[in-house]
Amino acid sequence: MPFPLALGFTILFAFLSHFVVDSFAKVTYHTPEPHRDDKFWVTWGIVSTIITIALVIWVLIIGMFWFFFLGGFFSVLVDIVDWGILRPYQNKKNKGDQKSIWEQGYFFHTVIDIIREKVPPFSWLPNWNYERKGVVPEIIIIIILWILVATLLISFSVP
Ligand SMILES: [Zn+2]
Repeated sequence: MPFPLALGFTILFAFLSHFVVDSFAKVTYHTPEPHRDDKFWVTWGIVSTIITIALVIWVLIIGMFWFFFLGGFFSVLVDIVDWGILRPYQNKKNKGDQKSIWEQGYFFHTVIDIIREKVPPFSWLPNWNYERKGVVPEIIIIIILWILVATLLISFSVP
């Protein structure tokens, strides 16, 4: 794809990927609050951090850091806006009344919650956010994504 289109589609699909990945996150071990006294929670946090660091090292080695950084930035933009900007702002404005924040529907995650609960196949998935077995679908998703990226890279590098 020519330069401006490739950049535009990277940004667009990275942004939209957040809605898909967060909807799948329903079936993963993903507690909304930290459990620092739980060895399993801490171990999984360390393992997933190591996987993330390995990914960054890999994209540095293959020379695609800025491409992945751009995709990474726009894929987490939804969280930056919702959790980093809007939520603290609304929290301050409503003096910590969380319920009223959600009812106002200011957040991208309000849309994500609707997708999770109402749109198949996401609505068919069980909620394993507090179940340790949720690491299994997470590992499978990571492996599938890694294979897809590797396959795309190999197919593009063949003349
Ligand atoms: Zn999110």
